[in-house]
Amino acid sequence: GDILKKRKIAVLGSRSVGKSSLIIQFTENQFIDSYYPTIENTFSKGVNYKGVEYDCDIIDTAGQMKDEYSILNSKHAIGIHGFVLVYSVTSRNSFDMIQIVYDKIINFCGIKEIPCVIVGSKIDLSQSRQVQPAEGEELAKANRAAWVETSAKNNINVAKVFELCLAEIERQAPTKTEP
Ligand code: GDP
Repeated sequence: GDILKKRKIAVLGSRSVGKSSLIIQFTENQFIDSYYPTIENTFSKGVNYKGVEYDCDIIDTAGQMKDEYSILNSKHAIGIHGFVLVYSVTSRNSFDMIQIVYDKIINFCGIKEIPCVIVGSKIDLSQSRQVQPAEGEELAKANRAAWVETSAKNNINVAKVFELCLAEIERQAPTKTEP
């Protein structure tokens, strides 16, 4: 029979950049306009990527990022295969937080590179855009991460986020992450 590969993916980023919306659009195919998670939540979804079945646990770290000093606790970093770092293209502050979060993960894990996708969310709000695509692309390149822009509202590139994350996980740790 087929081997099911378990992968744990943590979604991090500033408050209200749309982390929960992204995960709920991906796992439940719906957009909820107001979703107020109080604590960390884990969602599961089977993903077929390049003919391989992955059992993904997606950890929504909502409410864990009160300020730049409480971004990451050990619970988030241990046992995680890949990271999704979300900023909103409508928030310069949330974009500036990405490098800070990335560096914290690197420091915490004690490695130079982590499987990571940087996501610019809410591209449907084009009138309010504060961060240009080229800036996101450049940041990702500098950290050797994947990058994509999304809209959870219009379901643009939502599945792509998690495909890219699985690709990064396989690229960076092909042997360490065997089931
Ligand atoms: P979180 O705190 O990062 O988990 O953010 P939420 O998922 O709770 O979203 C915060 C707010 O942004 C909510 O009002 C969402 O409806 C809204 N939001 C999330 N994603 C999008 C999007 O792609 N487009 C638009 N227009 N609004 C979004």
